[in-house]
Amino acid sequence: MLFANVIVDISLEKLDKTFQYIIPETMESIVKVGCRVLIPFGKGDRQMSGYVIEIADKPCMDLTKLKEIKGMSEKSVMIESQLISLAWFIKETYGSTMNKALKTVIPIKQSVKGKEKKYLRLIVTDEEAHSLYEKYHHRMNTKGRAILLYELMNGKSMEYEIARQKTGVSDQVIRSLEKQNIIEIGRSTVYRNPVGDFGKETEKIRLNDEQQKAADNIIEDLDRGKGSTHLVFGVTGSGKTEVYMEVIEHVLAAGKDIIVLIPEISLTFQTIKRFYRRFGDIVSIINSKLSQGEKYDQFERAKNGEVKIMIGPRSALFTPFQNLGLIIIDEEHEGAYKSDMVPKYHAREVAIERARLAGANVILGSATPAVSTYYKALKGEYQLHQLPGRANQRSLPHVDIVDMREELESGNRDIFSNRLKKLMEDRLAKNEQIMLFMNRRGYSSFVSCRKCGEAIKCPHCDVSLTLHKKRAGDRLVCHYCGYSIEMPKFCPKCESKYIGRFGMGTEQIEEKISQLFPEAKTLRMDFDTTRAKGDYERILSSFCNREADILVGTQMIVKGHDFSGVTLVGIIAADLSLFGADYMAGERTFQLLTQAAGRAGRGDKEGTVVIQTYNPDHVCIKTAASQNYEAFYNNEIGYRMLMSYPPAGGMMAILISDKNEDFAGRVTNDLAVRIEKTNIEGLHLVGPTKAAVSKINDIYRNVIYLKHVDEKILIKVKNAIVKYIEMVPEYKDLSIQFDFNPMWSY
Ligand code: ADP
Ligand code: ZN
Ligand code: ZN
Repeated sequence: MLFANVIVDISLEKLDKTFQYIIPETMESIVKVGCRVLIPFGKGDRQMSGYVIEIADKPCMDLTKLKEIKGMSEKSVMIESQLISLAWFIKETYGSTMNKALKTVIPIKQSVKGKEKKYLRLIVTDEEAHSLYEKYHHRMNTKGRAILLYELMNGKSMEYEIARQKTGVSDQVIRSLEKQNIIEIGRSTVYRNPVGDFGKETEKIRLNDEQQKAADNIIEDLDRGKGSTHLVFGVTGSGKTEVYMEVIEHVLAAGKDIIVLIPEISLTFQTIKRFYRRFGDIVSIINSKLSQGEKYDQFERAKNGEVKIMIGPRSALFTPFQNLGLIIIDEEHEGAYKSDMVPKYHAREVAIERARLAGANVILGSATPAVSTYYKALKGEYQLHQLPGRANQRSLPHVDIVDMREELESGNRDIFSNRLKKLMEDRLAKNEQIMLFMNRRGYSSFVSCRKCGEAIKCPHCDVSLTLHKKRAGDRLVCHYCGYSIEMPKFCPKCESKYIGRFGMGTEQIEEKISQLFPEAKTLRMDFDTTRAKGDYERILSSFCNREADILVGTQMIVKGHDFSGVTLVGIIAADLSLFGADYMAGERTFQLLTQAAGRAGRGDKEGTVVIQTYNPDHVCIKTAASQNYEAFYNNEIGYRMLMSYPPAGGMMAILISDKNEDFAGRVTNDLAVRIEKTNIEGLHLVGPTKAAVSKINDIYRNVIYLKHVDEKILIKVKNAIVKYIEMVPEYKDLSIQFDFNPMWSY
């Protein structure tokens, strides 16, 4: 006998409310997760419809109390069915409860306080607003208006109250601006399009031969209705976006809808504008700054056909289009496509599943595809389309690799090499702009030698050891196998005493600049300078308007921004991401360096890139410098194959956390022993060990890694573990997380 857990109303806040029904034998083969079924409900057995979200083989209560499903609803092809199936896929593939998976996938309407909000927006063009701004911002008594106009430019709208507080303008001033037809006051509870009117595209770009070929091939495939995945591989500026837009036009003409995923950090004004100018009002944007209610409104507009193209980060994937035709994932290699909360799904894989359910297609685009993506493209699982060269015929920048060990030997212990200093001097004199990129992520965790460039590695794994500060003395630990040694005083390879953590960040770079070039104007962009809303855009637009000569920053500055004034890019310490304690460190380094290098010379003048490194011979650095993806890939895939890291095989991290250290340890060991006892052929267990961050908020974290060539085996192991845990009363409140093909180590 089978049972169906049914939710009656998915727009309610409480998705948790499920009711169990018996599936009649005659219906067993047709009732599936996502189906809409007819059920008798409540005391009077009122007939209602609901969605099956789970199928169980045991009843949750006394059998006599359960009623039977009465039939299938006619309208079972609703979008909700698809999304529930998708939630099921997420639950199964990544490990989570069905409830959490549903909440990820289905926008929940929050009970919005019925208060009407007032919004302000510009009704003049940006150009007009700009000239008004110029007029206003010189005079003290009109400064508030200037700020207000500035804030509303680029099509942004602003809540009335917030606008008043932020700019200090009075009600009167706002009313007078309204009277002059400069701004309008919108009154609604509904969130309006976050972007204003851009006017229509005047003339369409003619695709070049490669672009046309890629677009034609994809469109042909679309028309065949095969539901396949395509990879558009081309450097930044090779014209991928133009190809997307060409395909989108075709999909729209066929009456279908489109989802475009763009990493939040690249979701810039420039990108959005291009889509609006081409497709007009049917485009909508969501971003993480929207409240739940606002996001819900956007999703409703998509559902009722007002919006046909949804652009946004990861969560836009769940836009409830009834008739989805295409999902595009730009910069598909980006780490942001992987959720860092349970369920830890990857948007690329979920997109492919959603497309399968909807009979839609997927286009992935990147200048530096994820190793696993390119692997699948070469195997023919994805169709590969290459766009060689930059569409606008601009040449790639010239790249210099500077060996920082030689600098040290010649007595230069500065952050900047002599080469970089000289070039900076030259650019400042010519009034050209400079970007300095510091890859700070993980900068404090690994130890390396400044003389020979060695990062201290685990003898059993190809990863760097991580410094653990302990009262009894610092230790170096391997996060993959648990190996550990005392922190050495001298480099194990060359015996120099210059070993230690990299201790520099963006702030030190800024300081150094002000010593060397006191005249230069510098902007800094990192986590600390971008905490408030709008900081990020302000810094970028200020740099873009050439209000500064140098922009110093972390990876935030290298993603997708076009600054035509930049002719020099300096990468201060290219190695910093190289020896992170996980198998993807090399891939990430290559991607970052390639992107950073691509920032130079976007304008008419040729650009130069300086990569400072202690490992000038490292494959990732050399291949990034020559912008040679194939060479990087060939080397990297060899390493993955050798070590059976993804995509050569599947990997699953199991994270066990508890506030009781002993308990967490005991559970972890218990699970490890049980997994080993299964004797599954080819299953490789690494650990158990403490997580790299072994304690967060007084919760102790342990981790077990499992590898197997066949990912499905790992899913089975996961399901077995979940079942086992449910059986042990002591484990009732255990916190356990699964992460498939983790992008970062724990
Ligand atoms: P990508 O998405 O690969 O970074 P884009 O589509 O943004 O590339 O194109 C980069 C620049 O080149 C844009 O300014 C775009 O307008 C321009 N461009 C793209 N294709 C063509 C073309 N066929 N002819 C002229 N300019 C083009
Ligand atoms: Zn050394
Ligand atoms: Zn190890």
